[in-house]
Amino acid sequence: MNNIVPIPLSIGNTPIRKCDFLSEYFKTNIFVKDEFHNPGMSSKDRPAYFMIQDAIQRNRIQAGGTFVEASSGNTGLGIALIARQLGYKVKIFVSKSCSQEKIDKLEEAGASIELCDNSNGLQDFQSTQFRAQSFAAKEQNAYFTNQYYNTQNIRAHYRTTGPEIWEQTDGQITHFLCGIGTGGTISGVGRFLKEQAKAIRIWGVEPRGSILQHYLKHRTAPNAVRPFDAIEGIGRNFVPGSFDPQPIDQIFQVEKDVSIDMAQWYYQHTDIRCGFSSAAVLASLKCYSAAMRFHSDDNVLLFFPDHGSRYLSKLYAENSKVSTSNAHSLNG
Ligand code: PMP
Repeated sequence: MNNIVPIPLSIGNTPIRKCDFLSEYFKTNIFVKDEFHNPGMSSKDRPAYFMIQDAIQRNRIQAGGTFVEASSGNTGLGIALIARQLGYKVKIFVSKSCSQEKIDKLEEAGASIELCDNSNGLQDFQSTQFRAQSFAAKEQNAYFTNQYYNTQNIRAHYRTTGPEIWEQTDGQITHFLCGIGTGGTISGVGRFLKEQAKAIRIWGVEPRGSILQHYLKHRTAPNAVRPFDAIEGIGRNFVPGSFDPQPIDQIFQVEKDVSIDMAQWYYQHTDIRCGFSSAAVLASLKCYSAAMRFHSDDNVLLFFPDHGSRYLSKLYAENSKVSTSNAHSLNG
């Protein structure tokens, strides 16, 4: 095949480990897939690589051109690491609310950054999405990877994450649980796993007020869109093209504060700092485990897209200790 793009970094094949503490607490077998083992320390290296490879193969960008993306950080970092190694320039439009740790990493990776205001939604002219699109349209030899609408986003997870999970669990997985941002992970992994075994439950997690739970039930967006809690990487007020409801059985909504408590609870028990959206997945277990009705021989896989080192200031600062009331119930 012409135009094969060499993988410049070792992406994917991240480990899955059983978490004894969570298994004991929730009385089932709980496994975690730790995506921070990717070069950019997140699952988003996978779609970043697929989107870049696709653009180069289809001659949508020439040598020395600029890859452009709107990103809360992780996709941007994946694109920066890969595209810079291949000799391209990288411009990332980042929301002002993004953590400083992620912005520092993007700069270290050689990306040029523009801070934008997403408070009026991604359709607003000041938003990351709008400004990335206009920049790429005006700039010569620039390509907007557009993760929310790029079919390579789902394909990356369908071709890599899904098969890895199936093989690593010897086909014994019964539940897959992950946060939803663009929808690429849950749609791609969910599609692959359901093709292997229809009975596998595919469950998503989003912040309270995000609209995808409503969309899954009614196949239409709600009339009124409310602001929702900021949990970095997840939550939407529109339905992305990279969200396919087909393989998804249920979406749980969680509170930001409960997620912060869960990050600290998990850290206290495991010495591992999980990321914000990983903590939201833990919050869904904490709040809905009765409704989830696990059996003792189920194999539940939690997808942890990145690492807590990206959120030290938001999740692990001295002044954000587990609130007393929640600490009591969490330990109980
Ligand atoms: N968690 C984090 C930390 C992320 O960066 C993302 C990507 N926005 C997600 C979860 C959601 O993944 P997806 O976009 O595939 O739905």
